[in-house]
Amino acid sequence: MAQVEFRRVSKTYENGTRALIDFDLQVQDGEFMVLVGSSGCGKSTALRLLAGLETVTAGDILIDGEVINDIAPQLRNIAMVFQNYALYPHMTVRQNLAFPLKMLKCGRADTERRVQQAAALLELTPLLERKPGQLSGGQRQRVAMGRAIVREPRVFLMDEPLSNLDARLRVSIRADIAALQKKMGTTTLYVTHDQVEAMTLGERVAIMNAGRLQQLDTPQGLYEKPVNSFVAGFIGNPGMNLFPARLAKADNRVQVVFGEHTVTLSDANVVAPATLASHTGRDLIVGLRPEAVTLGGGTDAALPARVIGVETLGHEQLVYFTAPWSGGKTLVARQSGLQYVEHHDVVVMLDSAQLYFFDPAGRAIY
Ligand code: ADP
Repeated sequence: MAQVEFRRVSKTYENGTRALIDFDLQVQDGEFMVLVGSSGCGKSTALRLLAGLETVTAGDILIDGEVINDIAPQLRNIAMVFQNYALYPHMTVRQNLAFPLKMLKCGRADTERRVQQAAALLELTPLLERKPGQLSGGQRQRVAMGRAIVREPRVFLMDEPLSNLDARLRVSIRADIAALQKKMGTTTLYVTHDQVEAMTLGERVAIMNAGRLQQLDTPQGLYEKPVNSFVAGFIGNPGMNLFPARLAKADNRVQVVFGEHTVTLSDANVVAPATLASHTGRDLIVGLRPEAVTLGGGTDAALPARVIGVETLGHEQLVYFTAPWSGGKTLVARQSGLQYVEHHDVVVMLDSAQLYFFDPAGRAIY
């Protein structure tokens, strides 16, 4: 059990790549923290620094309040599970699980106890005498997890541990990992590029971009109150629609002007119109989740659009459209039912209570 802290940590590799910049993060004792962001944003670097496989360029990494920058990796008592979990093919599951303990010079009785415990936890007991070649992909992944668990580490690091598995298995093992982590209560940092995985697994999720932490919050917090347009566009499946607009004032009410169209904001908007009043006359970025756009509707508030693509998901459709008022951006609406086809002119309704606003630098206005 341990509390982990990154304090203004930066990492610049020898070739000049700034992989991590002023990175601050506090992980509570027993917490399941997910780091998410697109490839190359510095997630693995953060884990490798914590594990001691790389050294920090600046800043401090602490475990339970103690700076560990200069502590050798093998003394940190941190276990890491990778995407490429090479098991020893000539060893049985039991021997694979026991192997890290041999390295730690554990006694025979202690080794046996730890292997049995991990096998029971991961439901591997009936498979202990099999070799990796006789296991399914999911079972092999569980053995890899087991090899980390037997070490009884203070902290678990998982770097895209599911990305080699097919989609269905990923979903089921995802649930297993979450349940297992709860049972063990070991502080865990989990890295993924997949925002759905991040949202379903993390108690809190740290979103990263270009080496910097963008936002740290609960999945719901990230969805409801993104701090900037990057987070708004990253979270959600698909992410938030973002397009240019201007704010105006008429009859003492705030209006959003998109091209030739205007929508009057109601007091129920997620961003209080009073907050927006000081931004009237300015060019902003408007955000609207695909679930806040409805196709069809005959009222005055309907805006013209043209469907350019449709993805059918069975119970719903993602309808991609262009519009004369979207500043050239393609937008997407999430629709229940299966009624839309490509190349049709439609009208769309925007739920004006769900409009988000970002300044030209992308910072959210609340
Ligand atoms: P992620 O895990 O988010 O995909 P990484 O932490 O692996 O990102 O990489 C962050 C950045 O650092 C990338 O631009 C990557 O190319 C670079 N990088 C990673 N490892 C090294 C290294 N050993 N030497 C130089 N550059 C590296």
